Amino acid sequence: MPELPEIETIKRYLEKEIIDQKIKNIEIFNKRSFKGNKKNIQGAKVIRLERKGKVLVFVLSNGYNLMFHLKMTGQILFFNFLKKLAIDKSTRVIFILDNSYLVFNDIRKFGWVKVVDDKNLREEIKRLGIDALNLTFDNLKRILNNTKRPIKLVLMDQAKIAGIGNIYANESLFLAKINPQTPANKISEEKIKELLKAIIKILKKAIKYGGTSFSLYLKPDESKGKYQEKFLVYKREDKKCWRCHKNIKRIILGGRSTFYCLNCQKL
Ligand SMILES: [Zn+2]
Repeated sequence: MPELPEIETIKRYLEKEIIDQKIKNIEIFNKRSFKGNKKNIQGAKVIRLERKGKVLVFVLSNGYNLMFHLKMTGQILFFNFLKKLAIDKSTRVIFILDNSYLVFNDIRKFGWVKVVDDKNLREEIKRLGIDALNLTFDNLKRILNNTKRPIKLVLMDQAKIAGIGNIYANESLFLAKINPQTPANKISEEKIKELLKAIIKILKKAIKYGGTSFSLYLKPDESKGKYQEKFLVYKREDKKCWRCHKNIKRIILGGRSTFYCLNCQKL
């Protein structure tokens, strides 16, 4: 699933291309992928892009906004009119702009695009926790002290911290040498500091590499992100830990594959 670094990569790409462009028309191929009334955004201009956690927002000129959530398999692809438009059976929505197309693909159909006014946008955004890149020691400490759930599940709880999914939770915990099963309220202040540093470092590094194209995520120009070439621990089951050379172990935690080094990340 695309996480914060992938959505941030898409945002930075599109900011260079679609600001001030008008949404001339919208072609919807799958009704469930598009929520709200397309008439409300036809003719509106894209003023700016925002992101919170894994949600991307186009702020429009007429008081409406377009929200995107890519969920498992969503893609947002950009084609200016000089490039050949490529659509396939996973294409759910096409936005026709002044001089480009924006294509929303989603094989599994869990993702969505939603038209919301400013008030509804604020309500939707409020349901998300603090954006992971805005975490501070104080708010991370408050979030962790409040629960004895395993730390990895807390990091991935979008209502607490928005933007971290399975890949970057695994990576951050490895870097901070914290066992993913540790009850969140048992983590010392010293370790919380290390974890915060690790989260920010991993997310920034992943943004630098254009995100992780392990499954279907692509950048808007259809190229792949490269963070999968930098994985510290994710998908490295039975391979040697970069730090101590013991084998990486895989367990299932909260239904998700969890990778860690038994030696570096002791309970
Ligand atoms: Zn190790």
